[in-house]
Amino acid sequence: MHDNLLKVLLVEDNKPDARLLEKLLAKAERNKYELRQIELLQEAIACLQADNFDVVLLDLGLPDSQGLETVRQMHAAVPQVPIVVLTGWDDQEIAVQALREGAQDYLVKGEIQPLWLVRAINYAIEREKMLEKLENLNSELARSNQELEQFAYIVSHDLQQPLMSISGFAKLFVKTYEDRLDAQALHFIDRIVTGANRMQELIKDLLSYSRLGKKEFVLDATDCNQVVAQVLSNLQGAIASSGAIVAYENMPTVMANEWQIAQLFQNLIANAIKYSRPDLAPRVNVSVEMKQELNEWQFGIHDNGIGIKPEHFERIFDIFQRLHNAEEYSGTGIGLAICKKIVESHKGRIWVESELGVGTSFYFTIPEPDM
Ligand code: ADP
Repeated sequence: MHDNLLKVLLVEDNKPDARLLEKLLAKAERNKYELRQIELLQEAIACLQADNFDVVLLDLGLPDSQGLETVRQMHAAVPQVPIVVLTGWDDQEIAVQALREGAQDYLVKGEIQPLWLVRAINYAIEREKMLEKLENLNSELARSNQELEQFAYIVSHDLQQPLMSISGFAKLFVKTYEDRLDAQALHFIDRIVTGANRMQELIKDLLSYSRLGKKEFVLDATDCNQVVAQVLSNLQGAIASSGAIVAYENMPTVMANEWQIAQLFQNLIANAIKYSRPDLAPRVNVSVEMKQELNEWQFGIHDNGIGIKPEHFERIFDIFQRLHNAEEYSGTGIGLAICKKIVESHKGRIWVESELGVGTSFYFTIPEPDM
């Protein structure tokens, strides 16, 4: 037997077509292929489940299955076996749809040359191998991400208790011994309390970041007019104290997780108000546009604030990355990381455009569901 003998299953009910393919294969590379022919889809599936085949040549019109359903069923039953579809007519659209359903390649019967056939078979086998590697890597990545999130959650959760003890006892210490402590000792204690409070804020934010991945993710028809109105009511205090004017266009209803979308708008609008110039009341505008070519909504939150240098455009979306210290502007640097996580879990994108000293626009997209 040949060392690299490739086992090919030909699923074809038309005898002359089957014979022709057999001949083509023999002509291309004799003794390299072991060909078996089966006429019914269900029989072919049973055969693939019982025995190892390197590739399937699959006719779309079989006595027990017609059209794309044939690919769908076969791919679902034996996803690891590469499929090359044989179409009896030059129908690009069906062929492309077959690729979407899991086929690796297609050949148009009557136009097949021996070399094309060999190439299609080899490519299909290699592509399937690469796909499998990629899928393995992907699930490994998802698993390690989940582990990391779990780790962040446990750590931040368990850190809360000892931290509360530190700040609680420091406060009690001052209260009990205040009259016996000099100014420097009081100052040191004050630093301990401030540090502990800051750490509490960071942990609280880290917890809400890691909780995002733990909550059930349900998409609903979400009216963004209502979401933004609610967000503005939540931000009433900041709006009043800064004298901000926030305007928004007529918003669409999108398929989204309402709680997360509200969080997203709230973080971005709160930042637009917070990072304002000292001499100028914040003006914030929320815009929206349908991008037909990508079938997605593009939202924008525009401000007239301090702006961001281009070299920071990427890193501000990372966890705990801030461009200012807590005395200048309050915050922990987690808001935009949360925004990014929310947008990406909706399969959208988020980015920033900004001019230092002039203002900033944050954009994010939410795809419309496919029809
Ligand atoms: P936080 O506001 O808690 O620092 P964020 O993750 O929301 O955390 O923002 C990260 C950094 O990005 C901020 O520290 C700030 O420097 C910058 N930034 C965010 N939004 C704006 C904005 N609208 N204008 C200017 N800078 C901004």
